[in-house]
Amino acid sequence: MTVSECPRCQSQNIVKSGVVNERQRYLCKKCNYYFTVNKIGKRIDNYYVTKALQLYLEGISYREIERIIGVSHVTVSNWVKEFKVKKPSHTDYHPTYKIFNHLELVEYLKDKGHLSGAGMIITELGDKFMLIKWERFKD
Ligand SMILES: [Zn+2]
Repeated sequence: MTVSECPRCQSQNIVKSGVVNERQRYLCKKCNYYFTVNKIGKRIDNYYVTKALQLYLEGISYREIERIIGVSHVTVSNWVKEFKVKKPSHTDYHPTYKIFNHLELVEYLKDKGHLSGAGMIITELGDKFMLIKWERFKD
């Protein structure tokens, strides 16, 4: 895992600053934030790997996943291989997704028409929510 930017301010002006608990520590010269490689690597990877694989299983394409979570489609396809995720074939329905903030989500769910005849999952995505919906129960 190589570090190229500060996890707090995204500045690339970072320098090595000693080793703590056997981890390389870095200092951001712009915002004076200290961080270690393992810490940020793990946090970002596990979160986005899980989200990306969820989306993949729901039948969403690599390119769409790239647009939603901002991880390149090549990386996503590597994760699919690495974790040996096999997607069941979705022949009779195709999921759609929407990104909401909390208020929009509440408004959307208020309308019962959006809920009947369809399955959906809601997953947290940064400071927003993603609703994946598929209508396989509709005739
Ligand atoms: Zn910084």
